[in-house]
Amino acid sequence: MSTEHFPRAFELPNNNSDSNTSQAAPVNAFWNQYETLASGSRALRQGTPTKLLADAGSAQSNGTDNQRQPSSNEPSLLQLETAFEQEHKVKISSANGKFVYSMQYEGSVHNLFETNADKAGLDSASANLKSLVSDEESSLTSTFHVSFAKQGEVVTDQKETADSKPLPHQVTARDPELFELEGIKAALEKSAPSNIASDGKTGVKYYCLTEKPILGIDSFATFQNDKDSKPSVYLWPKFNEINIATEKDRTSAQNLPFSDGDRPESVEGAMIHELGHHQFMKLGFDPKNSKNETASVTAQTQLFEKMGWLPRLDEKDADYNWLLVGKSKDDNGQPATYLPSFTGMFFSFGRWQQKGGPVDEHGKRVPADKMQQLGEDQMVAEAKIKPPTWYFENPEEEYAEAVRMYRMNDESRRSLMQGSPALYSLMKENDQRELDQMYGTNADGSSKKVRSNDFKIVEGK
Ligand SMILES: [Zn+2]
Repeated sequence: MSTEHFPRAFELPNNNSDSNTSQAAPVNAFWNQYETLASGSRALRQGTPTKLLADAGSAQSNGTDNQRQPSSNEPSLLQLETAFEQEHKVKISSANGKFVYSMQYEGSVHNLFETNADKAGLDSASANLKSLVSDEESSLTSTFHVSFAKQGEVVTDQKETADSKPLPHQVTARDPELFELEGIKAALEKSAPSNIASDGKTGVKYYCLTEKPILGIDSFATFQNDKDSKPSVYLWPKFNEINIATEKDRTSAQNLPFSDGDRPESVEGAMIHELGHHQFMKLGFDPKNSKNETASVTAQTQLFEKMGWLPRLDEKDADYNWLLVGKSKDDNGQPATYLPSFTGMFFSFGRWQQKGGPVDEHGKRVPADKMQQLGEDQMVAEAKIKPPTWYFENPEEEYAEAVRMYRMNDESRRSLMQGSPALYSLMKENDQRELDQMYGTNADGSSKKVRSNDFKIVEGK
C-alpha cells in the first residue's frame, strides 16, 4: 500500500478543477472579509494551469483548454527554439553561426553543448540533452544509489481521490529533465542518509509522471512506496512549473521569506522536503508504513505533541485529525487548540477543543458561527511552537518542512533555530537517530557517524 503525502499547498484537494468555479463558489461573510485581508496572490498556490508544450512525446494532455492549437503553418525556427527552451529549461543563444545551449543551476550558467543554428541543429539538441540526462542519472546512481524510472515505465493505477478505488488506467513515467536532475542532485547532497531506506541499502527511486496519479489533487511531488515497495519520489506533471533548479539560483525577487506562501519553489527545496518524508517513515512515525503499527501510532503522537500538535478526540476526519496548540488559554484552563480546514482558496484555523466544540476569541465555548477563525499568518503568531514555514496544514507536512529547513542551507537552518528552537532540537535529534540507524553505534552507545558543523557526515569521536 502506498501512502500519499501532499507536500505543498499546491497539493491540496483540487475542488475547483473546473477552472472558474472558485469565483462562483458560495462564500460566507467571513470568507469574503478574509479574502480581502489575505493576499489575493495566495490563490496562486492553487496553481496556474500547466503550460503544455506541443510535444508529441509527452502524454500530459489530460485537458483540452491549455493545449496549443494545431496550426497549418509550419512553426518558425524561433518558435521551435522557444518551445525547446521552455520544455527543457535551457537557454539557447546564437554565437558565430551556432546555437549555444546553457542551463542555470547551482548559482551559475553552465554551457551544455552547441549545434548548428538551424532546425536540424535543434533536432540534434534533443539527442545531446538525452545523453547528458543519461550520464547524470548514472552519476547520481553511483554516488547516491538512487534510480530513475524509464520513459514509458508503468508507475501506478490512476485514482479519482486518495481513498478511491483504482481506475482502469495506468500512469506512466517519462525520463527526467537535466534541469530536474541538477535540483535532485543538490537535494541529495544535503539529504543523506534519507536517500537510502531503513534496510541501509535500498536507494530511493524517482518517477517523473506524465499524468496525475490522483485526479483530485494538484501536487508538485509526493513521497510513497512504489509498486515494488521501494521508497519513491513522484514528480507530478505540475512539477514542470518549477523554474528554479537550486536555492542558489533564486533572484533577489524570488528570495521571499520562508514564511511567505508566495515564495516560489525550487527543485532542490521540493526534493529535500520529499526526502524529509522518507526520514519520517524510516524513524517509524508513519503507521501505514511500519511493521509495528501500534508502536508507530504512539511514536507519531509523541512526536507531534513535541511539535505542538494534539490529536483531535471528538471525531476522525479524513484529512484533518490534528489540532495546532496556541499560546492562548480557554476558560477551562486548557491551551487553545485550532483545527485546520481548507476553504478551496486557502487554509483557515478554527478554534476547536480537543474533545470537540467551537471556542471564541475569549476562550468560551460558543455556537459554531461564533468560533474564532485564524488565517495562516495569525495562526503562526498564535502557535505555541512556531511552524517553520507557511506550509503547516498538518503536522506531517510541517515535519517535512522542518527537515527541509534543517538541511537546506545556513539561512534556512538559522531561521529554524531562531524561530522554532524546539523544532530545531527535534530535527537535530532525529537526524542523529537516522545516522545511527544507518551506521550504527559503538559499544559505549556513542554514534559511529555524526553531522559536523559544516553539515557533512563524519566519524563520531
Ligand atoms: Zn510533503
